[in-house]
Amino acid sequence: MDRRSFIRAGALGATATALAAPAIAQGNTTWRMVTTWPKNFPGLGVGAQRLADRITTASGGRLTVQVFSAGEMVPPLQSLDAVIDGTAEMSHGAAYYWQNKSPALSFFTGVPYGMTTQELGAWVRFMGGQEIWDEVYDQFGVQGFLSGNTGTQAGGWFKNELMGVEDVNGLRFRTPGLGGQVWEKLGATVTNMAAGEIFQALQSGTLDAAEFVGPYNDLALGFYQVCKNYYFPSFVEPGLATELVVDKAKYQALPADLQAIVRDCSQAEYDMVAADFAANDPRALQTLVNDHGVNVRQFPDSILEAGATASMEVLTELRDSGDALVKKTAESFVESLKVLRTRTQDIDAPFVQAREKYLTL
Ligand code: CA
Repeated sequence: MDRRSFIRAGALGATATALAAPAIAQGNTTWRMVTTWPKNFPGLGVGAQRLADRITTASGGRLTVQVFSAGEMVPPLQSLDAVIDGTAEMSHGAAYYWQNKSPALSFFTGVPYGMTTQELGAWVRFMGGQEIWDEVYDQFGVQGFLSGNTGTQAGGWFKNELMGVEDVNGLRFRTPGLGGQVWEKLGATVTNMAAGEIFQALQSGTLDAAEFVGPYNDLALGFYQVCKNYYFPSFVEPGLATELVVDKAKYQALPADLQAIVRDCSQAEYDMVAADFAANDPRALQTLVNDHGVNVRQFPDSILEAGATASMEVLTELRDSGDALVKKTAESFVESLKVLRTRTQDIDAPFVQAREKYLTL
C-alpha cells in the first residue's frame, strides 16, 4: 500500500467503524480502547484491533472492546491520560511515550542497547519485570501488559551516506525518547514528530534523517521517495514492546475469567505482533530494494561503538535517579540483561553466525 492509499484507507476505516458499532446485548460490558496508532497501521494498528477482537470473541461478547485509532477520540499522545481520567477503559500504545510521567516506563518498551524481543518477554514474565511495572503504574491507577513487539527496528533513513561518527554532527534527525538522547550525545540535532509528519519534513529539508519502526511500516509511510540510504540495525531500539493499559479498578472489578481473557489475549498478541513483523519486515525490505532502489547499509563501527558508550551513560543516569522506583526498575533491567545476554551470546548468536556461514540454501 503506498502512502496516499494508506492514509485514505485510514480515513475510510474510521467512518466504517463508526457506522458498524455493534448492538450490545443486555448485561454485557463495552470497553473503549484508545490507541496511539493510525487505523490499520501495519503490525501495530492491526495488532490493537486484533487484540480487541480476540477479547470480544473469547468472552463471547461479555466484554466487547471498541477500538478508537489515533485522533478518533483523543490525540494519540493523550491515550494514557484518557484511561487515567476515565474517558476510555483501555489504551494500546508504547510505555515509553509516557516517560514524562515516569522515566521507568521506558524500560517496558525498550532502551538503547537493551533487550531483544525474547529477552524483554523473559524479564517481564519471569524475572520480576511485571511486578515492578505494576508498581510504576499503580501511581496512576492503571495496569500495563505486554501486547506486541516490533523486533529489532531499522536504524533510520539518511539522505547522505554515513562514513563515521563525525558525519552525525549537526544531523537533523527524527528519533524520539532515550534513543534520541543517545543520538544527541553523538552530535545529532534530534527532534520528535508524529508518524504522519515525517515524510513532509524529509521532503522539505527540515530533516536530514528519520527513523520510525522498520521496513513494514516505513514502506507504507513512503520514506523511500525522499531518502535512499536505509541503515541497520537500530542499536537504540533493539526489540520494542507495545503495551495494553487498563483502568486498574475497572479491571479488578471484572469477573476472574474476563480478567484472565484480557491478560492472556494481550500476552498472545506479544507473540502474534512479533511474528507479523518477522514475516513482513523482510518482504517489505525486498520491495524497497527491488522496486524502489533503496540502499541497505550497516552503521559504521565508530557509530555503533560511540552509540554503546552513550547508551551506557543514559542507563547509568537512570540507575542513579533520585526516584527510587526508577532506580529499582533500571537495576532490575540491567541485572536481568546480564543474565539474559549470556544465552543470546553463547547459544543464539553462534548459531546464527554458523547458519550464515555454512548453510547455502
Ligand atoms: Ca523507532
